[in-house]
Amino acid sequence: MIAVTTFRGASVAVFGLGGSGLATCEALRAGGARVIAWDDNPASVAKAEAAGHEVADLRHIDWSGVAALVLAPGVPLTHPAPHWSVGLARANGVEILGDIELFCRERRATVPRSPFVAITGTNGKSTTTALITHILAACGRDPQMGGNIGTAILSLQPPAAGRSHVVECSSFQIDLTPSIDPLVGICLNVTPDHLDRHGTLDLYAGVKERLVAGVQPGGTAILGIDDRHSQAMADRAERAGHQVVRISIRNPVADGLCLEGPDIVRTRAGAVVARFSLGSAGALRGTHNAQNAMAAYAACEALGLAHADIVRAMLTFPGLAHRMEQVGRIGKVLFVNDSKATNADSTEKALAAFSDIYWIAGGTPKEGGIAPLARFFPRIRKTYLIGKSAADFAVTLGSHPHVIAGTLDKALALAAADAAADGAADPVVLLSPACASYDQFPNFEVRGKAFRDLVLAMPGIAKA
Ligand code: ADP
Repeated sequence: MIAVTTFRGASVAVFGLGGSGLATCEALRAGGARVIAWDDNPASVAKAEAAGHEVADLRHIDWSGVAALVLAPGVPLTHPAPHWSVGLARANGVEILGDIELFCRERRATVPRSPFVAITGTNGKSTTTALITHILAACGRDPQMGGNIGTAILSLQPPAAGRSHVVECSSFQIDLTPSIDPLVGICLNVTPDHLDRHGTLDLYAGVKERLVAGVQPGGTAILGIDDRHSQAMADRAERAGHQVVRISIRNPVADGLCLEGPDIVRTRAGAVVARFSLGSAGALRGTHNAQNAMAAYAACEALGLAHADIVRAMLTFPGLAHRMEQVGRIGKVLFVNDSKATNADSTEKALAAFSDIYWIAGGTPKEGGIAPLARFFPRIRKTYLIGKSAADFAVTLGSHPHVIAGTLDKALALAAADAAADGAADPVVLLSPACASYDQFPNFEVRGKAFRDLVLAMPGIAKA
């Protein structure tokens, strides 16, 4: 745990007592602050109380003695409307922060140049964060991974020389981190998402930009430049005097990383200075993962790792669960769990990465359904439809081979049998639903785990 000492002796209100909120209470208390905890959910309040924290309805406290309100990232700060606790803090002139801000202040106060890598972007954050952590660990560094992935940031080990913090930041978290100042800041891409929480795409991009604009002097800003917002951010970061590494999966880049045929190349002043291939990295299939790999490479390079070490480690990345996760093989049939693909955009990445696909799709549909995926239908050998969307998706698939299987177990049994019998060159049974899971599962993780368990229980399976 990281004891937050920058509020020693002060009162701090904490609203939102999920996992990260409770960790915040612990960290503040350990650092000598008085914590006043609250949540709209009585069960969460009871949990905080059981952990020995002072709880009080923030509507009825004396705000004059409160130094800060620490908000959980899921609580609306601006859109669609500020939460009532935000209104109270503002009315009382109390600053509103998140747990990553507490980390940044603690780091500045203790080990201000410690290797702190912050990662944002609309897509690819978790993969890039996990990949950087994997490479650092393989190279004998001491990475601490957290933030929007896995562990709450204040539950990690404290900053120390030679200990890296690799922190995934959602835009909600950046919104609550006014002084974010990583040594290495990454913004992978900016596309429309969460606009309900940020108003417009410009506002959303503006929040993401703060992470790279905040890179500390002597640090490195790494930017995907394949969308117009990110491109402009890179130019502004450079004009502000930052060391900028640009990455692109679309166009050549003079100083950064880009694709050259099947290779990823590192360029400086227009010349290729290093190259590598992700060919044997099964967990990094697809050009979207090339973007993630480029960002991870640039981050590790900025932290002083050598080319050969970075590449060697990258090729052993096991991947993240539920994102094109290779579960196992029966003969040459590969089984892939891409349950995290809850919309057509994400599923497109998986369909683009494989051929000879036996596709399990469906669930609670998103607007537009699978119509945007029509150009991939010819490479799908057959589709096995599950869930609420089955009848609609069957209409979209038209004459492309498909069957309404209904449930995941039936779909898998049918797909596995067809894939084994067909004699296709590179058969893949792919769960990539392009739908939310709520009609049949509590969330995408449970859906993915159900698929994985079913696959691993099949006779003849070899774990990937
Ligand atoms: P995030 O943490 O930003 O949600 P993940 O790394 O968990 O991203 O990946 C989620 C999904 O987003 C993947 O399954 C894939 O479909 C897609 N994706 C991953 N990386 C990228 C990228 N760089 N660009 C576009 N889409 C991506």
